[in-house]
Parts: sequence; C-alpha cells; structure tokens
Amino acid sequence: MIYLDNAATTKTAPQAVEAMLPYFYEQYGNPSAVYSLGSSAKKAVNQAKRTLAGAIGAKPEEIYFTSGGTEADNWALKAAAGACAGKGRHIITTKIEHHAVLHTCEYLEKSGYEITYLEVDRDGLVDIEKLRSAIRPDTILISVMFANNEIGTIEPIGEIGALARENGILFHTDAVQAFGQIHIDVEALHIDMLSASGHKMNGPKGIGFLYIRSGIKLGAFIHGGAQERNRRAGTENVPGIVGLEAAAVTAMKRMEEKAAKESRLRDYLIERIEKEIPYCRLNGHRTKRLPGNVNFSFLYAEGESILIMMDMKGICVSSGSACTSGALDPSHVLLALGLKQEEASGSLRLTLSEENSREELDYTVESLKEIISRLREMSPLYEEFLKSCGREEKED
Ligand code: PLP
Repeated sequence: MIYLDNAATTKTAPQAVEAMLPYFYEQYGNPSAVYSLGSSAKKAVNQAKRTLAGAIGAKPEEIYFTSGGTEADNWALKAAAGACAGKGRHIITTKIEHHAVLHTCEYLEKSGYEITYLEVDRDGLVDIEKLRSAIRPDTILISVMFANNEIGTIEPIGEIGALARENGILFHTDAVQAFGQIHIDVEALHIDMLSASGHKMNGPKGIGFLYIRSGIKLGAFIHGGAQERNRRAGTENVPGIVGLEAAAVTAMKRMEEKAAKESRLRDYLIERIEKEIPYCRLNGHRTKRLPGNVNFSFLYAEGESILIMMDMKGICVSSGSACTSGALDPSHVLLALGLKQEEASGSLRLTLSEENSREELDYTVESLKEIISRLREMSPLYEEFLKSCGREEKED
C-alpha cells in the first residue's frame, strides 16, 4: 500500500503512541480530581499547554483543547461573532476555506451575520488589496486559512494579520494543515485565534486546540464543568492531549529536515507528471505551497474513476470532488481558482509524507499514466478533442 493522502490524515507517530499509553493504563485519573492520580493527569495537560504554546509563540493559558480542527473553527467563528455583535455583524472569509469554516459561516448568515467570501487568484492566493477594500466599519472578524488543504497554497498570513490589527478587527486562521509543517509565530503574524488538529501532524485523531489571544473575551463553547477555564467543558482527553504534545515536539524538532525531504519528493512528482502526462494542470501556487502537496487536474479523465483505479493498484489518493447527496460535486476550492467544471472534476490530490520513497512515486506515476490513458481512450470527448487538434494542425 502506498499512502499519499496525508492531508486527510497521517500515521500516528510512535512517540505520540508511546506518550499516550501510560494515560490509558496507569495515569488514567480525571484531571479535575484532587488526589494525586488526578493531579498528575492535570500536570500532563498543563505541560502540554506549555509545549504547544511554545510551538506557536503563545502563552500556555491561551491554549484551549478541542476535539479537533472542526470544533476549533466552530468555536472561533461563533464565539467571535457573538462577542462582537454589538460592534457589527460583518465577517470576511475566503471561498477556499474548509467546510468547517464555510458551513459555520452559512450558519451565521442564517443568524443575521453578513459574510463576504473573498475571491482568490488562479493559484489560490488572497489579494491583500481586495481584502482591504472588503473591510467595512462593521467588520468584526477576518478568517483566512493558513494553508489550503486541497491545493496546498500558503496564504500571506502576516500581511492579513497586520491589516486586521490596523483596523481593530479580530483575525482567525485555520492552521490545521500548517501547524507542525510551517513555522508559526502568533505574535509576529498578528494572529488572534488559531485552529490546529492533532491527526494532520502525526498526532492522534479527535484532539486539537484553539489558541485565543489573552484579552479576547470569547464566550464558552461547551457548557458544563469548569474545564478549560470555564470555556470548554468536558473531561479532558488526556491521552489525546499528551499524544498531540508528543507529535508537536517531534514535528518542531524535525520541521526543516522533514519539509526539505517532502518538498524534494513533491517537486520530483510534479516534474514527472508534467513531463509525462499530457493535458494536465498543476493546481495551487508553485512555490508558496505546503511541502507535501501535489494537486493536478487531468483533462478528459474523471477524478473519482482515477481514484478507484489507483486504489486497485494499492495507492491511496484523494480526488477533487465531494459526494453530496449522491452526486459528485467538483471541489469548491478548484472552482474558486477559476477552473471549469470538467477541469475540476478531473482532479487528484496526492499528499506526501517523508516516509514516501522515490520508488513509490515512480510506481505512482507509471500507474497514473496507464490509468489516465485508459480513461481517455474511453472518453468520446477526448476523441473529439484529438480530432479537432488534428484538424487545426492540418489547417495551420
Ligand atoms: N480545517 C482544515 C483546513 C482541514 O484540512 C481539516 C481537516 O480536513 C479541518 C479543518 C478539520 O479538522 P478535524 O478533522 O480535526 O476536525
């Protein structure tokens, strides 16, 4: 099996699993309990906060554990909207956010908020001038993702943060794909809220955190006990928290080396696909891009079919379409780049890890070549296209 879907989830790091195990068997106390079994669990939670805060240049009391990126995004947007409703009800985000942000925005729209969904350019980048002109006196929040999960484009977060700060607007970034991969400093980048998730950076699933800059008065997200400073009730997922911490420690230590390895593999894969498969397009920015992300559109081949045929060859990848109510919808991200419906539906995302080898990538390219040409052979549109090319060549 060749795993090329690391943007969907990653293999849990052995360091994370090892760190977690004692919290199932021995240190299983409830962190709220007063006896020492409880207080040692509490200590582990607090230590994880210190570590994670250190990883993004924050303070430990600014880290709030959640069940993952989706919850962190929901909390940031809904609570910021609620807290600032007195000042205004306008929020700016982008058309390429993850559904955790987009669907939360749709929910807020129904509750009387107005949302501007910024366009991005052909590479998926936010234009700072467009953002500047979208700001209004009643704008309360800007939410722009750090790096896109489909096309890997890394946004100009520092500039966006500075603009938000200049205008007294809260700035949230969904850093689920960036945390552990790219260096993040919430101070330097003027970030007020940041969402992160464990399972995207070799930590366990079902755990993440929301960074909330101190001084920002956001309401509680889950009501109940006094955990997470009364803002997110529920007994802490101690093994998850400890596993997330261990994964973050490993990621921070090896960030440069890992990124260098992955981007070498990424560039090798991009180069081979561009050279060897005709009528394809690289989606996302060529250089401002996550180290492991490769995303291509192949004309006259359908993404879901490529995916299934790749699976039959033992390769796990992901397509640019999502199944909603039984129909395959092309990705909203690819459509926002200006791709035509048929270009977007012939897309494939391959997200690498440093564990992938060149041999695996060679096998992937050979399989892809064979699959794309088989699918194109079956496509009447491709036949027509070839005929039209032949005619044009003769006419020339
Ligand atoms: N935001 C982005 C950019 C993501 O890629 C994902 C996961 O795919 C999420 C949010 C949701 O994170 P989680 O799976 O931890 O809820």
